[in-house]
Amino acid sequence: MNEFTLIDRYFRALDTGRSDVLVGIGDDAAILAPTTEAMAVCTDTLVADVHFLPDDDPFDIGFKSLAVNLSDLAAMGANPRWAMINLVMPAIDESWLEGFCRGFSELAGRHGVSLIGGDTTRGPLSISVQAGGTLNPERSLRRDAARVGQAVYLGGPVGDGYLGLQVARDAYRPDDEDRDYLLGRMRRPEPAVGQGAALSGIARAAIDVSDGLLADLGHVLDASGGLGAVITLDSRMFSPAAQRYLDTGGGASDLITGGDDYVLCFTVEPGDRAALEDACRRGDFEAVHIGVVTSGDGIEVRDRFGNSITTVSAGYRHFDNA
Ligand code: ADP
Ligand code: MG
Repeated sequence: MNEFTLIDRYFRALDTGRSDVLVGIGDDAAILAPTTEAMAVCTDTLVADVHFLPDDDPFDIGFKSLAVNLSDLAAMGANPRWAMINLVMPAIDESWLEGFCRGFSELAGRHGVSLIGGDTTRGPLSISVQAGGTLNPERSLRRDAARVGQAVYLGGPVGDGYLGLQVARDAYRPDDEDRDYLLGRMRRPEPAVGQGAALSGIARAAIDVSDGLLADLGHVLDASGGLGAVITLDSRMFSPAAQRYLDTGGGASDLITGGDDYVLCFTVEPGDRAALEDACRRGDFEAVHIGVVTSGDGIEVRDRFGNSITTVSAGYRHFDNA
């Protein structure tokens, strides 16, 4: 099989023919005709042995390679529409490709995302996905929009991605139910697409939690001119499975510094609280109030009694020891 039959056999079916795609897979470039004034575009790469293991289920790899990108679009308040795949693989493995495409397609179908092109090359296994979506730039959720006095919220539980990885490494052994839940959250994270759209125009700054809550909130505060925040730990920040980790002696700092959660962390002006409640009803999600933006620098974490606790705030950085 050559690269062209491979594209025809596996990728062409993922080009689902949206009306805003004039030319999709098959020409030198795709032609898009979005009827909107602004687009959000992003890309993310998954490398074997760094982001996944080569023998992980290809369905999960396909799912997650799109999920991490849709999560970035959600964090801007954009509606996802198109994606491209740059695939580098050591050899053509049809059963791997079939699983990969099924995982990708499962998530793409849910969000109306059409595959419009890509590239296929031989080399060490890595997957780069680009995604594009549309948005009203006036209602976008930008990292630099945090201001002193805004409330900080979480749109989903943090720590599950970290715990999922510990389970996969056999470093944490919960009961079967928690084990399945945590592995599922790590392998097939649900991007908060509906939530991002519902928050657009209501939340101010937003980010999706991929490096860990403290690191990612830190990115927002830095981008907004070097602000600080006070965060109070609340059991509603964690899933029941993560709470059982805490109950059995696990540290909350693991849960707020571990990455790969793909939930949204966002800020809201105090006067927009009613609008936020409305957005939660429309988007069918719960926003957990975790703190406030301050003029200080750094993030102070308090326990539920209001006592300051020390935490490590370093997120995962690829080149730290380079
Ligand atoms: P070119 O040589 O002009 O760059 P290619 O031969 O690389 O074109 O690709 C042929 C067509 O197949 C293009 O439309 C390209 O976007 C698409 N394509 C190639 N690889 C992939 C892939 N992995 N997923 C989706 N589309 C792909
Ligand atoms: Mg060409």
